[in-house]
Amino acid sequence: MNNVLELAAITKGYNKGKPNEVTVLQGADLVAAKGEVVALVAPSGAGKSTLLHIAGLLDTPDSGAVTINGTDMTSLSDRKRTAVRRGEVGFIYQFHHLLPEFTALENIVLPQLANGISDADATKHAMDLLDRVGVAPRAKHRPAALSGGEQQRVAFCRALANKPSLLLADEPTGNLDPDTSDRVFDALMELVRDTGLAAVIATHNLDLAARMDRTVRMDQGRLSPA
Ligand code: ADP
Repeated sequence: MNNVLELAAITKGYNKGKPNEVTVLQGADLVAAKGEVVALVAPSGAGKSTLLHIAGLLDTPDSGAVTINGTDMTSLSDRKRTAVRRGEVGFIYQFHHLLPEFTALENIVLPQLANGISDADATKHAMDLLDRVGVAPRAKHRPAALSGGEQQRVAFCRALANKPSLLLADEPTGNLDPDTSDRVFDALMELVRDTGLAAVIATHNLDLAARMDRTVRMDQGRLSPA
């Protein structure tokens, strides 16, 4: 099996033992293979972000196993988990979260420098990514000078800057108008297909979900095929 991500029997709740206790995940299983794009569909509040944060090692489950590229993450030290997160996982959020004082190019170069890549190589890779999503002519602009669609395209490039094997996206076009959302989603899918990584993309939009390889639905803290 060529599974990049395996989530097995994940449970997660907040405020355990308190009056405001909430159980979010109740035995969630999910697999994403190399080259596979999985749509995660659920209503707001169902636990999509919680699941993505656990899959991306930003949060830990109460129980269950997170396996990335065949390695059980629960047995790793914090330091090693952080190294896997930095090297193997790319995140895209609904809002771009680009650093406002840096240019589009710099926003994609900086995470590579932090990962030990040379300035020349990082710049070349960043320009190649920007070119693939059609934003290369805007490379020297700061985020505030870009349209919403352009900002999000740059955020896609930043997520892929360190050549992750897993992409996790939380409503990546949810903040854009429908037309822009469609075109920006096309750009994302092209990038994902070119790169051949595994992706889990949360969306409310069933049309977008239908353009991915398969859909899983979240219901009562579990996942099932659509
Ligand atoms: P979604 O992404 O599907 O909208 P979330 O994963 O953000 O859902 O949230 C799922 C549930 O968990 C919600 O009821 C939310 O209020 C609750 N929740 C999320 N994070 C926390 C937290 N840090 N503390 C308490 N409750 C939380």
